[in-house]
Amino acid sequence: MHEEHSLFTRAAELAADYVAGLGDRPVAQPVDLEALRKAFGEELPRGSSPPDAVVEELARIAEKGLVATAGPRFFGLVIGGALRSAVAADFLAAGWDQNSFNPALSPAAAAAEDVAGGWLRDLLGIPATASTGFVTGGQAANTVGLAVARHQVLAAAGWDVERDGLAGAPALRVVASVERHATIDRSLRLLGVGTRAIEEVAAGPQGAIDVEDLARVLAAGEGPTIVCLQAGNVNTGACDDLRAACALAKSHGAWVHIDGAFGLWAAASPTTAALVDGLELADSWACDGHKWLNVPYDSGFAFCAHPALHAETIAYRAPYLAGSAELSGMGDLTLEASRRARVFAVWAALRELGRDGVADLVDRCCRLARLFAALLAEGGAEIANDVVLNQVLVGFGDDDRTEAIIDAVQRDGTCWLGGTTWRGRRYQRISVSNWSTTETDVERSAAAILRAAAEN
Ligand SMILES: *Cc1c(COP(=O)(O)O)cnc(C)c1O
Repeated sequence: MHEEHSLFTRAAELAADYVAGLGDRPVAQPVDLEALRKAFGEELPRGSSPPDAVVEELARIAEKGLVATAGPRFFGLVIGGALRSAVAADFLAAGWDQNSFNPALSPAAAAAEDVAGGWLRDLLGIPATASTGFVTGGQAANTVGLAVARHQVLAAAGWDVERDGLAGAPALRVVASVERHATIDRSLRLLGVGTRAIEEVAAGPQGAIDVEDLARVLAAGEGPTIVCLQAGNVNTGACDDLRAACALAKSHGAWVHIDGAFGLWAAASPTTAALVDGLELADSWACDGHKWLNVPYDSGFAFCAHPALHAETIAYRAPYLAGSAELSGMGDLTLEASRRARVFAVWAALRELGRDGVADLVDRCCRLARLFAALLAEGGAEIANDVVLNQVLVGFGDDDRTEAIIDAVQRDGTCWLGGTTWRGRRYQRISVSNWSTTETDVERSAAAILRAAAEN
C-alpha cells in the first residue's frame, strides 16, 4: 500500500471519530489558550518530522481547543453543521488540490460550479440566467455584489470606477436599513465607498425594513443609488418586504442588493418561501453555504442578475491568460485569484439532500426553533420575536439576569448560546441551523436553559 493511503485514512479516521462524538462531548469546554499556544510549539523546529507524526500531534493538541459548533446543540451565532457527504467531498477537494480559477486548471470544478450554481439558483428562486461566484462566505458575497453595484450605478452616471477610482466620482448613495448586517458596512469600507454614504432607513418592530421610510429616504436624494435589502435578520430572522422594496428601489433607478446569508434559504421550502417573495427582482444576492446548507467552512455564493457586469467588474486579466475565452470564467466572479474547489462540497450536499431534502432541512430547523420558543415560554421565559424562521430571542427579565443565565448555560456545556442586544435590551439568541439537531436536542437544551434560569 502506498504511503499516502495510511496517512490520509488516518486523518479521515480522526475526523470521523470527532464527528461521531459531536453529540456527546460538552459543546464548549474551558480552555487555557496560553497552554494551547505552548502545545502548538514555541520556535519553529529546525528539522523536519514525518508526516504521520505531524498529523497525530496536530490531532492530539487541537482536540482540547475544539468547539462542537458542528454538533447538534450549538445554537450560537448562525452556525451550520456539515452534512457528511459534504465533509467527505471536502476531503476529496483537499486531496485533488484543484485551483478553481478557470476551466483549464480544473474542468471538473468548472463543470461542478455550472451545475451546482444552477441548482442553487433554482432552489433559491434566483433567475436561471444569473451568474454565481463560489466565494468564501456572506462577507465576500456582499463585497462582490456591492462591487458590481458600484460599477453599474457609476457607469450609468458616466464614471468608470475600475479605471478612475472613486476620487472625483459622482457621490454614491447607499440606502440600507438600520438593521443591515455589519458585513455590509465592512464591504462598503473596503470598496472605498465609505460608511458615510449610507442613508439609513428605519426598521419595523421585527427588524424588517420600513417600506414607507424607504420611500421617504429614496425620494429625499438623487444620484447613483444602491439599495441594500435583507433576507433574515440575525436576531429575529425577519425578512424585508422584498417585492415592495425592490419595486420602490427600481422606480428610483437603484441597484438592489439582497443580503440573504441564511434567510435566502427560506425560498427553498414552500412553507417559508412567502417570507422572501419578490427576491427575484433584485440585481445581486449574497448567500451562505456554510450556514444553512450545512457545508464545511468556508463557502458562500455571490449571485448577479447581470453576468457580463459581474465578470467585467471582478475580471482578472493577465497576458498569460490571453487568447482563449476558455481561460476566463469562474475566476472573474470571485475576489480570489487562486481558489480551492469548495464547490465539490456544495454539489455533494445538494446531491445528498435533493430538492425535498433541502426544503425539509429548512422546515425542520424552523419547526425546532418554534419548539424551543414554546418550551422556554412554558418555562416562564420571554420570547421577544415572532419566530418566523430559525431564530429565537429569549429574555429573562432584566439584562443582568439574562447575562448571568447566558453565562451559566455556556458553563453547563449541554448546549451553547450567545447573547445579543435587541431594541436596547439583552437577550439570549438561539439559531437552529444544523441538519443533525433533533427534538431531543432541543428538549435537553431548553431544560438546561430553564435549569440555569431557576438558579439565577
Ligand atoms: C452571517 C451573515 C453574514 C456574513 O456571512 P459570513 O459567511 O460570516 O461572511 C452577512 N449577512 C448576514 C445577514 C448574516 O447572517
